[in-house]
Amino acid sequence: FLPHLIASLEQVDQTYIMVKPDGVQRGLVGEIISRFEKKGFKLTGLKLFQCSKELAEEHYKDLKQKSFFPKLIDYITSGPVVCMAWEGVGVVASARKLIGATDPLQAEPGTIRGDLAVQTGRNVVHGSDSPENGKREIALWFKEGEVCDWTPVQSPWLRE
Ligand code: UDP
Ligand code: MG
Repeated sequence: FLPHLIASLEQVDQTYIMVKPDGVQRGLVGEIISRFEKKGFKLTGLKLFQCSKELAEEHYKDLKQKSFFPKLIDYITSGPVVCMAWEGVGVVASARKLIGATDPLQAEPGTIRGDLAVQTGRNVVHGSDSPENGKREIALWFKEGEVCDWTPVQSPWLRE
């Protein structure tokens, strides 16, 4: 009883993961989704989407003053992206580890960027940097009704 109670008090977080246009163009969508799926997180939202300049700018608003900002917006709007919402205990930090360092040449082998990319400006995937930003970004990229609440049958085999 007590362990169940403690487990149920654990914070379930959401993160926004996005395959960037280079990842879509290079045919890496399945590979990238697969990494999160195999890890054991729960997919709650998924769509292929061509985003506007306005949405890209809002998503990256904290980087507005950076010299690379205009190029970043061009990159993110250069083709369709795959938008994903993933849920789980510790999902935000774990997803960042699965993704690897911002510069793919510094990213560890075994991470998505470490295995699949060579340059910061083409680093194939985005992941939220905090639970707060996870919520913010999911609300920004998904409309109401596009995120599903469901119970995977494998749940009891992933967490005791
Ligand atoms: N970026 C870039 N040049 C830089 C730093 C960042 O083009 O010097 C791009 C890159 O696509 C990166 C994104 O801007 O993924 C967001 O930057 P951030 O520092 O938030 O890195 P992330 O959280 O994606 O690892
Ligand atoms: Mg970031």
